[in-house]
Amino acid sequence: MLGVFGGTFDPIHFGHLRTGLEVVEALALEELRFIPCGLPPHRAAPLASAEQRLQMLRLAVAGEPRFAIDQQELERAGPSYSVDTLEALRAELGGQHPVCLLMGLDALQGITGWHQWQRLIELAHLAVVHRPGWPAEVPADAAAVLTPELCTEAARLRERPAGGVCFLPVTQLDISASRIRSLLAAGRSVRYLVPDAVEGYLREAGPYQRPAPGAGR
Ligand code: ATP
Repeated sequence: MLGVFGGTFDPIHFGHLRTGLEVVEALALEELRFIPCGLPPHRAAPLASAEQRLQMLRLAVAGEPRFAIDQQELERAGPSYSVDTLEALRAELGGQHPVCLLMGLDALQGITGWHQWQRLIELAHLAVVHRPGWPAEVPADAAAVLTPELCTEAARLRERPAGGVCFLPVTQLDISASRIRSLLAAGRSVRYLVPDAVEGYLREAGPYQRPAPGAGR
């Protein structure tokens, strides 16, 4: 079964990486593909450029053979709709290969506003992970998508290509990209929140640092 992990990754951090690895092992995924979005349809545009976010992802996943990066959303014009990404994966893998879309409970919030949201569960399974600070119950609007009869044991997802939902407990790491951006903007360290290679890149490339007062005058 292939796993798909979409996000802005602005920047990638240990909350994504540890969660990804635990899901790979819990579902025995052959691979987990990190798919950075180009233009997010439901939130502000990322602060770092596509190239910077991609470079940080490359540094973060290097050395973990079960992680891969898929650049399709960065290469596609227009808003990055998950349904288009899953359709492209189906074209690549065929209709029978099990595919599982991974997301945090926060991302599930508002899913019924996503472009062609009903198609998502036809194209893939959903694996939902809890996230610190978010109530453990399914958001009311998502209950329409995640009806109890869709809920499946994790081990059974691979028996069909799509259409199941499972909830996975993962180590709760209260790390967010927004917090990392604010720390950097305040000139503070993000060491131990992101891999060392990403921390080094952030220091060198400085995508989130506020320009020093008077700079550029
Ligand atoms: P931001 O703070 O900018 O909103 P973020 O840290 O939530 O960013 P995203 O790239 O928006 O990161 O998230 C991509 C996916 O990763 C989402 O499905 C989100 O739920 C999940 N995710 C992000 N951080 C964590 C975490 N600490 N633990 C578990 N899942 C996470």
